[in-house]
Order: sequence, then structure tokens, then C-alpha cells
Amino acid sequence: MAENKTFKALIVEEQQDNTFKRSIQNRTLSDLPDNDVLIKVHYSSLNYKDALSASGNKGVTKNYPHTPGIDAAGVVEASKVFDLKPGDEVIVTSYDLGMNTSGGFGQYINVPADWIIHLPEGLSLKESMMFGTAGFTAGMSVNQIVSKINPGQGEILVTGASGGVGCFSVAILSKLGYKVVAVSGKESAHDFLRSLGATRIISREEALDKKERPMLKPQWAGVIDTVGGDFLANAIKATAPYGIIAACGNVASPFFSINVFPFILRGVTLIGIDSQNYPMLHRANIWENLAGDWKPDMLHNIAGEIKLNEINPKIDDILEGKIQGRVLVNLLG
Ligand code: NDP
Repeated sequence: MAENKTFKALIVEEQQDNTFKRSIQNRTLSDLPDNDVLIKVHYSSLNYKDALSASGNKGVTKNYPHTPGIDAAGVVEASKVFDLKPGDEVIVTSYDLGMNTSGGFGQYINVPADWIIHLPEGLSLKESMMFGTAGFTAGMSVNQIVSKINPGQGEILVTGASGGVGCFSVAILSKLGYKVVAVSGKESAHDFLRSLGATRIISREEALDKKERPMLKPQWAGVIDTVGGDFLANAIKATAPYGIIAACGNVASPFFSINVFPFILRGVTLIGIDSQNYPMLHRANIWENLAGDWKPDMLHNIAGEIKLNEINPKIDDILEGKIQGRVLVNLLG
């Protein structure tokens, strides 16, 4: 592969006044890090973390100029390892992709072999990025619920329901026969959430207890919380005995104030979800479920497709919590 071959990528640059500028530029393969496998990216997707990286959040990306994109699906173009060959269809999500390693908002990535998973049977490259990191994280969270809670045990609460992780959590749990209560701040998303299978939708205000009581009436057999803060604290206080709370996000706040009573009087379990370093063995199981029984019937309605040169305003929208569903980024052409 010619080192001087050019491709297009979103480049985020730090300016002298500490602001950040985003533009689509030509890069060459020699600009990429020297890793095991060169992949031609067909699709990526926009995640909340990408928006943080694209707006100069040094907790996500330390050094600029940088190309964000924490997930990518494409075809192996060159490989230094035996079990990944040119022509193989592959998915890369998590690890350091798009954080401090040039990511999926470029038409090529070069990554270590142990970040790569073969595309499972039952999914196209495009569908895998309709899921992307958000769908995978929803899959990990659902996995915690299904392993401990039966559909007949009661309602499952999903916060941030119209967002990427939230809407997949709603869709997969509904498909598996659970009664799902969606928390959403967007009235315009109610029809969308019902179409994914939500049995009830409540507003953000209804999800919060203004009186700040130490415990609340037990309502939820399980919870998938994508927003953190007071929403997580309230969900824990309202979880029924021996219920499960899977916590994966912090768009509302990384901090929450809670007491010990839900744990010692109701035996509830709070489980942290970290998709970034999830072991490869279990990772493959989640992808196989997403490609099989868990694949939502509405998958193609969840994601809207854009081209790389249309990504800039979408980055601002996701930072402002305005996105419904997923943004699929087409890197071809
Ligand atoms: P999105 O922006 O797509 O969705 C977040 C949703 O949260 C919004 O659509 C909105 O839904 C709701 N929301 C936004 N702002 C607020 C607020 N201030 N208070 C309450 N609700 C709010 O993000 P993703 O779904 O991609 O990610 C969700 C979270 O999960 C992020 O914090 C992300 O970093 C995290 N994440 C964690 C992973 C892990 O491995 N642990 C992996 C992937 C993501 P609505 O309008 O319907 O209320």
C-alpha cells in the first residue's frame, strides 16, 4: 500500500486562543500510526464521546490535531497478522480508537489486531455501525438485566431514552418481552420511543423526586441509566428488592448523592458498564446477540445516515442533547 495515498478525514485542531477548529482535510496513510492492520473504513457513527473529542475535551483526547471516531466498520486492506486478511469485513469499537489514536471519522484507520472483531454473521457493515458503540453499550447493559431479571418481574426504566444508548436499550428489551418505561426530555420523541416498544414514557421531571426522600416506592425491576446525576440516584431509590441498575453514562452529571438503604434494605445491585475495555471473549458474544435475537426490527429507523462533510453541526447537536436515535457516518465516496 502506497504510503503517500491520500484519504479524507475530519481534523480537529487547537487554535492559539485555545479554541478548537474542525475541518475535512486530505491525509496520507503515512500520517496514521504504524499498527498491525490497515482498514478502509466504510461506516462510523457519532457518539457523545466523539463530540467531546471533537470539541477539545482533554479528558478524552490529550493531543491535537486529531481525528475522532470511536468506532468503525470496514474492510482489511493490509495486515501483519495471520488471522486478519485483506478483504475481511471487520468492526473496531472502543480501546483507544478515536481518543488518542486516529479514529473512524477518517477513511482509513491503522490499529492493533487485538482491537478488531470479525463482522458477525447476520450483520452488514452498515448495520454494525447503526449499532456502533452506543448499541454495543446498550447490549452490555441489557445483558446484565436479562441475566438476572425475567420479563414478568416488572418494569425496566431506561433514562436518556431517545439517545443512542437509550433507544437501543428500549428496542432490545422490548424485543425480548420486557415492559420498558422510557424517560425522555423530548416530547417530539414519544412516537419514536413507542415505535421501539416503550410501554410508558415519562418526562425528566417525573423521574426526579423533588422532596429528596431517602427511599422511594419500589417501581423498577431493573434500570439502564445513561445520564447519571440525580436521575441515577432516584432510579436506585425506586428500584424494587433485588433489582439491577446498570449505570453507563453521565450526560446529566458524573456525580450523584445516595444513601446505603436501597442496598441494605432492598438488596439492589448497581453495576457499572465499561464498553471500552470489555474483554474480547465477551465482546464477541454481545455482537452475536446484536446480530441475532436482539437485533431490533426497527434497526434501520433508529439511525439517520450522513456523509463525513455533514458531521460538523451534528457534533454540536449531540453535545446539546438534541439527537434522536443514532447518526451513521458514511465514509465511502
Ligand atoms: P446521546 O447524546 O445520544 O443520548 C443522551 C440522551 O440523554 C439525550 O438524547 C437525552 O435524551 C438525554 N439527556 C441529554 N442531556 C440530559 C440532561 N442534562 N439531563 C437528563 N437527560 C439528558 O448519548 P449516547 O446515548 O451516545 O451516550 C449516553 C451516555 O452514555 C454518555 O454519557 C456517554 O458518554 C455514555 N456512554 C458510555 C459508554 C460506556 O462504556 N460506559 C459507552 C457509550 C456511551 P432524552 O431527550 O430522551 O431525555
